Amino acid sequence: MYMQTAAQRRQKLSRLRQELLESLERLRQTIEVALAHSPLIKGSVYQIARRCGNPNCRCTRSKLHRNFVLTWSEQGRHHMRSLPPGRVAEIRKKSKEYARLRRARSEILALGNRLLALVDEIQELRRETLRDD
Ligand SMILES: [Zn+2]
Repeated sequence: MYMQTAAQRRQKLSRLRQELLESLERLRQTIEVALAHSPLIKGSVYQIARRCGNPNCRCTRSKLHRNFVLTWSEQGRHHMRSLPPGRVAEIRKKSKEYARLRRARSEILALGNRLLALVDEIQELRRETLRDD
């Protein structure tokens, strides 16, 4: 480790303070995702195509049955539920909102860690040690 001049130290502190404020602002913006009121649905909406099993059905020869499902996992178990056609758009919107909140959560975690790291760096740069000399 090299000795920093007082000017270098001030410059670095100024940069860290700036980043601290910017990170705080980003944290504030990210937290807005959690402040929203819209309902959330855990899971992903997919369209699946399948045969129904009836040997006389047209799906054995040509068109498969298509329908939308919601899949999610809870405590390590996968779940799938088929969706009524009239609710697909609404459920898709809520599941996207859920995913958005999860992404925001990861970002909040990362920003929180960054804020702490910045505070620690600032602490070290501001710290004075008393010498015996
Ligand atoms: Zn069929």
